[in-house]
Amino acid sequence: MKTYLIGFSLMALCLISGSFRGDLFVQNRAAGPVPVPILLYHSVSGEKGDPLKIDPSRFEEEMTYLKKEGYHSIHFKELQEGWYNGRPLFPKPIIITFDDGYEDNYTAAYPILLKTGMKATIFVVTGSIGSPGRLTWQQLHTMESSGLIDTQSHTVTHSNLTKLSDEQKMRELVNSRNQILRKLGHLADVLAYPYGFYDRRSIDAVHKAGYQLAVITEPGAADVTHGRFQLHRILISGDLLLDQFKAALNGP
Ligand SMILES: [Zn+2]
Repeated sequence: MKTYLIGFSLMALCLISGSFRGDLFVQNRAAGPVPVPILLYHSVSGEKGDPLKIDPSRFEEEMTYLKKEGYHSIHFKELQEGWYNGRPLFPKPIIITFDDGYEDNYTAAYPILLKTGMKATIFVVTGSIGSPGRLTWQQLHTMESSGLIDTQSHTVTHSNLTKLSDEQKMRELVNSRNQILRKLGHLADVLAYPYGFYDRRSIDAVHKAGYQLAVITEPGAADVTHGRFQLHRILISGDLLLDQFKAALNGP
């Protein structure tokens, strides 16, 4: 089985959205579902030199830019309804995601998201929740209560799914989903493949486990033609300058 190694790109992108109101409808059914940039962040911390960590001030600058430019942040549920059920999306929809469930998503990113009114999705490794430096269930619950944050699955142990037996894969996928249901009261319907590694058997397992969508780390805006279990994301490296961020939003 071929393994697709998904390289991280230094491109960024985004779109945001919301519910729908009157003349803000933009879904053009004749043209088909609109592509939606999905941004990928990890840790929001002041440490320099690691592209997977972004300084909070830079993150705030990016969120402020998106807001000013009229992007509408949405959750995956809204994307799904827009793409597959014909529900209109706001103009310039964008999805903001964080992988791995770092505690600074609560201490540093969440205050900025509250301030700018931006929605985001956190893909948590459920077996690591409550570990040092990682989010707790209480923090996730608090953030979800605001309506801005949605918690989804990044498996139980962050293992490369392509290296696991079918049975192990199902454990990672089903148990993480069920843990989120037990702790937060909703199923996880979206998966982020650990390391962005996936193959055909992984996709089949994700489908069988009941997920509706899955995200990868292939650059560029997510497009309905890629398939619901291979949604592209744009990695926002911590060392991007604002101009590079703007360029990344416009895609490769
Ligand atoms: Zn990860």
